[in-house]
Amino acid sequence: MNHSTPEQPADVVARLRATFRTGRTKPVEWRTGQLRRLRAMLTENGAALAAALHTDLGKSSTEAYRTEIDFTVREIDHTLEHLDEWLRPESAPVPAHLGGDATAWTQYDPLGVVLVIAPWNYPAQLLLAPMVGALASGNAVVAKPSELAPATSAALAELIPAYLDTDAVAVVEGGIPETTALLAERFDHIFYTGNGAVGRIVMRAAAEHLTPVALELGGKSPVFVDRGTDLDVVADRLARGKFLNAGQTCVAPDYVLTDPETAAALETALVRAVDALFGADPQASPEYGRIVNERHFDRISALLDSGRVAVGGGSDRTDKYIAPTVLVDVDPKSPVMQEEIFGPILPVVTVPGLDAAIDFINDRDKPLALYVFSESDRTRGRIAAETSSGGLGYGLPLAHLTVSDLPFGGVGESGMGSYHGRYSIETFSHRKAVLAKPLG
Ligand code: NAD
Repeated sequence: MNHSTPEQPADVVARLRATFRTGRTKPVEWRTGQLRRLRAMLTENGAALAAALHTDLGKSSTEAYRTEIDFTVREIDHTLEHLDEWLRPESAPVPAHLGGDATAWTQYDPLGVVLVIAPWNYPAQLLLAPMVGALASGNAVVAKPSELAPATSAALAELIPAYLDTDAVAVVEGGIPETTALLAERFDHIFYTGNGAVGRIVMRAAAEHLTPVALELGGKSPVFVDRGTDLDVVADRLARGKFLNAGQTCVAPDYVLTDPETAAALETALVRAVDALFGADPQASPEYGRIVNERHFDRISALLDSGRVAVGGGSDRTDKYIAPTVLVDVDPKSPVMQEEIFGPILPVVTVPGLDAAIDFINDRDKPLALYVFSESDRTRGRIAAETSSGGLGYGLPLAHLTVSDLPFGGVGESGMGSYHGRYSIETFSHRKAVLAKPLG
């Protein structure tokens, strides 16, 4: 039976809670069984999911597999390989006043029923990768896909109940009213990915029930390009990272900080890099995505005249196409520098040098990611020590989040909590303290 559509949020949560109370989700066999079913769902329906992602975001099949389907499969495989080891109780030294025969340890308990709320930009990965951690930790899961990626949401709402245990996993589709109704319920954890305004709504609702939250938010992720770096390599990696999914990536390089001399040379290199990746007419390139909807198209288009266009600048509203664009001579006070761009525009802002770049970054919200192109250990070390960001990447944007053994998450305005690999177990479990003292 497909429970996903007609059931009220309160009934979904009550039903899942009843399942959790039976203890069914706790054995590691149930958890790994669900992960294997999720894996089968992805490998057997990759083409259907890729088609849905193309409908929603114009994602090429290559990109859909790389950043959503295969990405999630890798996360599942990594978890299956290490779960026993991650779940192992960890013993703790016992102080002398408890006597020599007492023992102490920590063990991971599932939290209960968790809610995962996903955004539209990687609508499959960002629903499923948190679910991997939630299921591996032995929880029941309510999954809320983004209504702004309707084809992917519909595909997931059909596939998930067909593969996973419907008594313990439910999909609730919908937008603000449905999410608001869900948030009125008591969950044992809420995992939200999206923007900070809604993050605040989620945290407020969670506070009513003292429910812990992870907020995976966004913001402007800066790039610092040092003097004397190989700008062809820098430009190629920047363009790949920035224009993936037409710039709609939470950890996309948002803007570049560099000195005026480097900026001039980088401009030429970026023009070449964009041409090499997407050709003279990126609109005709099957590898280049589209903006999710007209509202975001209008928002991003309004940022196109925030500087001198080095490459790109064009757009086509009927096709939701915005060209991969590099803006130079950008004033920090211009509109493009006021909010997360979340689209295919890369502004280059000049600063006198490293000190000014560090001040520029620290004058703003703590970013989700910070990227540094520099061969100097001193420069890299200073940025690491003197700034705060969710993640830090030297020489390669986006890649840190593909390392399953690294925690992925933000700090300050870019969010709280983290996941991936064993960090998902930390997020979706309670680490219980146990002390045992023999009666004898
Ligand atoms: P979105 O509009 O799809 O919203 C995310 C979720 O919130 C959806 O499921 C939606 O239904 C729900 N929602 C929206 N308004 C709501 C409301 N008023 N009350 C309750 N629920 C509501 O996605 P978005 O926020 O536009 O996503 C883009 C943002 O997400 C960017 O800021 C981006 O940087 C960030 N992001 C972060 C990560 C990360 O891992 N840290 C990943 C992707 C995106």
